[in-house]
Amino acid sequence: MALEIKTIRCKNCGAQIFYDASKQVLKCEFCGSEYLPHEEKPLTEELKADKILTFKIEESSAIKIFEKWITRGFWQPKDLAREFRRTGAKGIYIPCWHFSFSVNTYWYGQERREKKGEGKIVGGKREAVTVEEWIPRSGSRTESYSLFVPASGGLSMEEVNQLAQFPLEESAPFSSEYFLGKQGEIPVLSRDNAWEKAKEEAISDEKSYAESQVDRLEKFDINFSEPASTLIYVPIWVFGYKYHGKYYRTVINGRTGEIYGKKPISKLKVALAILIPAVVVGVVVLLTHLF
Ligand SMILES: [Zn+2]
Repeated sequence: MALEIKTIRCKNCGAQIFYDASKQVLKCEFCGSEYLPHEEKPLTEELKADKILTFKIEESSAIKIFEKWITRGFWQPKDLAREFRRTGAKGIYIPCWHFSFSVNTYWYGQERREKKGEGKIVGGKREAVTVEEWIPRSGSRTESYSLFVPASGGLSMEEVNQLAQFPLEESAPFSSEYFLGKQGEIPVLSRDNAWEKAKEEAISDEKSYAESQVDRLEKFDINFSEPASTLIYVPIWVFGYKYHGKYYRTVINGRTGEIYGKKPISKLKVALAILIPAVVVGVVVLLTHLF
C-alpha cells in the first residue's frame, strides 16, 4: 500500500508539517498547542529533497536522554526533576539546506604598538611617556565551509545548529517512504534565501578572524566559490514539557543523541551566585583595611 501523506498547519506557531495519514496528529510538537481538525489536507505537491538521514536513536533511547538531561543541571530549580510534565516526544524530519563551499578573504588594517618616548624634564628628570604607533598589516586566507541552514519554520536556527553536526556521508537518496509512521516539516526557505544566510554566517566568521589580526580593520574583501547545495531531511526528536504551566521545548539529534533545550532557571541560585562573590570581596576589602 502506498504511503498516504497529509499536511497540517499550526495556527499558533505557523509550522507546517506533513505526516503519515495512517497516524493521528493531535498536537503541534513545536509549540504544544492542539490542532484543529479542519486544517488537515492532502499533500498537493510531491515532496522533493536530495537526501535523507534516518533516525538511529529510537524513541526509548531519546526518552532516556531527555530524562537524564531534565533531572540534572546546576542552574535549574530543585523541583524541576519532580514537577516537569512531558507533553510529547515526536520524531520529526526537519528540512535543512547544506552548503559546501570555499571563501577567499583579504584584509588590510593597522596594528597598534606602544613605544617609549621622551617627555618633558620635570625637576631635573625626564618623564617617561608612551608613544602610540600604527603599523600597516594585511593578509589573506582560503577557508572551506560546510554549513547547515535549517529550512524549518518550527525550530530556530540556534536549535538546529546546537545539535552539532549531522553526518552527511551516512545519508541516503531521498524517498518519501522513509516518512512511514513519522512526521516531517515542509521547507519554508528556498535555496537562494538559504544561501544568503550561509553567506552571512561565513562573512561574520571571516570578518571576526580579520578583526582578530589587526587593531583597526580598514578593508575587508571576500569571494565565494560556487557552492554545492543539498536539501536534506535530518532526524530530530522534539520534546515538549511543562513546568508550572509554562511550555518548554527540547530537541535531540536523532542520529547522534546530542541534546539541546531551554530550562527554567532558579532565581535563588542566580541570586546566591551574585551574592556569594560580593560577600567574599567585601570580607577581603574589610580585612585589608584592618591589617
Ligand atoms: Zn505550533
